[in-house]
Amino acid sequence: MSTALAIAADIRSGARRAADVLDDFLGRIETHDGDVHAFNTVTAEQARAAAAAIDALVDEGRDPGPLAGVPVAFKDNLCTRGVATTCSSRMLEGWQPPYDATVVQAMTAAGAVMIGKTNLDEFAMGSSTEHSAFGPTRNPYDLGRVPGGSSGGSAAAVAAGFAPLALGSDTGGSIRQPASLCGIVGIKPTYGRVSRYGLVAFASSFDQIGPFATDVADAALALGVISGHDPADSTSIPAAVPDFAAALGRGVDGLRVGVVSEMTGSGRNRAANGGSPPGDAAGDVLDGIDADVTERVLEAADALADAGATVGRVSVPAVTYGLTAYYLIAPAEASSNLARYDGTRYGLRVDGADVEEMNRLTRRAGFGDEVKARIMLGTFALSAGYYDAYYGKAQRVRMLTRRDFDAAYADFDVLLSPTSPCVAFRFGERADPMTMYRCDTCTIPSNLSGDPAMSVPFGTGADDLPVGVQVMAPALGEETMLTVAAALERAAPPLPGPPLAGVAGSTGART
Ligand code: GLN
Repeated sequence: MSTALAIAADIRSGARRAADVLDDFLGRIETHDGDVHAFNTVTAEQARAAAAAIDALVDEGRDPGPLAGVPVAFKDNLCTRGVATTCSSRMLEGWQPPYDATVVQAMTAAGAVMIGKTNLDEFAMGSSTEHSAFGPTRNPYDLGRVPGGSSGGSAAAVAAGFAPLALGSDTGGSIRQPASLCGIVGIKPTYGRVSRYGLVAFASSFDQIGPFATDVADAALALGVISGHDPADSTSIPAAVPDFAAALGRGVDGLRVGVVSEMTGSGRNRAANGGSPPGDAAGDVLDGIDADVTERVLEAADALADAGATVGRVSVPAVTYGLTAYYLIAPAEASSNLARYDGTRYGLRVDGADVEEMNRLTRRAGFGDEVKARIMLGTFALSAGYYDAYYGKAQRVRMLTRRDFDAAYADFDVLLSPTSPCVAFRFGERADPMTMYRCDTCTIPSNLSGDPAMSVPFGTGADDLPVGVQVMAPALGEETMLTVAAALERAAPPLPGPPLAGVAGSTGART
């Protein structure tokens, strides 16, 4: 399967027609999405019109832009004008936004062609896409396993070859973790780098939009297109957008790479040293991280050292409290953000004897169990009498996390860890909430700090399934992050690609 860069180059030069490229991808969706269920909606007709418009521009001798004719899938919590945006919830089933999210506008302006809206855990709450009201998405590598979540549909769409690019949202890991489980690249940008305007809010102080791609160069291309200041989002950073592509070939010579001790505690260093390696916080490590996943991270670190980087271990003690802090702050913000779904303005309404009953019946029927649990958790955490003990304390942990990361970045340019503690798991295997929440133990800290982080495939773990290595960088440090990610990609063993007929080897093009 061609990359987005190759497709756009071909279409801009007239070597291929956008309409033909689109037909190829629609054909793959037609053949395989019945099994994978990456999409809630396939916008075939609209896409054909958009592709024809791109071809017309090329015929007129005009340049459609850097994503000319590249099919792109949008997570179904990104507003698309006149196209259903459901958040995979009964609450918003059939709701059509009257406007496009800023990222949708940016992708379209760059020549991309929307091919559909992808499945997610309801309102982006989850790590497996099993919490979608419309049924789960399956991992293209093994249809008996989850693709991760909450952006599981976007990750599966790219891994299955349904689109070369997709966008997702990451509140606690929802881009990086599914990217890791599906053997592709996923980026959570610096908080504020990409406009959230038109992203249906889950936890506003964490939510960021970012790209999925089959390789680092495509991810960098998409990141460049969606980055930049947007007056419609008051948290958007008025910083210039760097030339991300230029960062890819810089090489890691002289860069300082820190392997986070707390996230690699069960690996060979710990065993070799008969316990915590020097520099570890007194044995305080995140547990539940599979040994073979840790091993891949250590191999990735070795590969960077071979390429000229200075590699060391670094302790970021507060990351061990990340999960706890996140599961107080994120539900607190969700309880407030989701108060708007009361049957009055959006989507579902279940009539009642009076307004209060209508509100109650609507929310009871419209939200799934996980969403209800989060709303209750958040409401409790914010309630008078508990505010300081829970929400207030969690915010102090958040400050501590920023401080610990800043200290680590005084000595290191980037940090390395696993993305997910495990490879793709089977449906139902992480059914109890705590086990599911632990999927994000390595990704959540960067959401607490607001710093950028991404996942790059690096070899395989149990059952030959893909493992992702997480590269973290300080705020607005995406260029260095991408430099390191590109070096890792060059050193990574090739992936077999998902065993879907006609798309096998799609992600194995990396050699
Ligand atoms: N899995 C985490 C949660 O359920 C993160 C979700 C996300 O990043 N949207 O909250």
